[in-house]
Amino acid sequence: MTVAVQLENVYKIYNNVPVVNDLSFTIKAGEMFGLLGPNGAGKSTTIRMLTTLTQPTQGQIEVSGYNVVRQPIRAKQCIGVVLQQVSVDGDLTVWENMELHGRLHHIANPQRQRLINQWLEYVELVTRRNDLVKTLSGGMKRRLQIARALLHQPQILFLDEPTVGLDPQTRRRLWEIIRDLNKQGMTILLTTHYMDEVEYLCHRIGIMDGGKLISLGTLQQLRSAHGEGLVMKQIGDRWEYLFFPTVEDANLYLNQQEDKTGMMVRPSNLEDIFVELTGRKLD
Ligand code: ADP
Repeated sequence: MTVAVQLENVYKIYNNVPVVNDLSFTIKAGEMFGLLGPNGAGKSTTIRMLTTLTQPTQGQIEVSGYNVVRQPIRAKQCIGVVLQQVSVDGDLTVWENMELHGRLHHIANPQRQRLINQWLEYVELVTRRNDLVKTLSGGMKRRLQIARALLHQPQILFLDEPTVGLDPQTRRRLWEIIRDLNKQGMTILLTTHYMDEVEYLCHRIGIMDGGKLISLGTLQQLRSAHGEGLVMKQIGDRWEYLFFPTVEDANLYLNQQEDKTGMMVRPSNLEDIFVELTGRKLD
């Protein structure tokens, strides 16, 4: 197994508070890994450390075998980054944004123009290449960010909440792009608020809360660990959730109840597990 990303006992402490607290996990080359968690869980801080934007207070981080603190330039050459804040320059054209990034990465012409064209074509922005970025829609800007992040041919792509604030069609289009990149061999780490995004895209899921990784595995592993069967019980105006190893076990429990009013059985999903683990809904 080739390791793409490795964190070992990583801490980030702000004002004596550990916002990332003893985080350790590994992402394999070619994997699509989703980091899920409520607001303030420490997801963005983790991405910022992985992408050399801020240093860990303690612990080791390697991307593509390079230590992000000791070899930040090497590490940066191997990664593409799309952060939450739209970081493309609205007063430059689409092409100028790509050109600037290409020059910053010392990609020489004619390869630079070839790659700019290739990636603009890939994200379907060729026809907008001479338009100012401020005239693009939110989804187009996000696609441009992705094209730009791919220009220097990274092996690992970091996406911090890639579809936040986008309409459903645009989200799905981005999902297709992200999935296709992964199929081509790109290792991807994404953070998100959205359960459906993780379920659709990610091979493995890490759930963070309070700076800690509180669960890690494939969706099926998480379901096996926390219970695949669920009994929902309506009590007044709220629902109580009871987890069972299997749906059959949940049905057995339901059948044993004298009063089945307001009760139903269904397979558990990621959102059920998330709420069970973190004790609150995502906003
Ligand atoms: P998430 O991305 O999961 O919403 P963040 O990593 O953005 O979480 O934030 C985790 C915690 O760290 C929050 O409580 C946030 O207020 C705090 N935090 C993030 N950056 C800083 C900073 N530069 N200085 C102080 N506290 C910060």
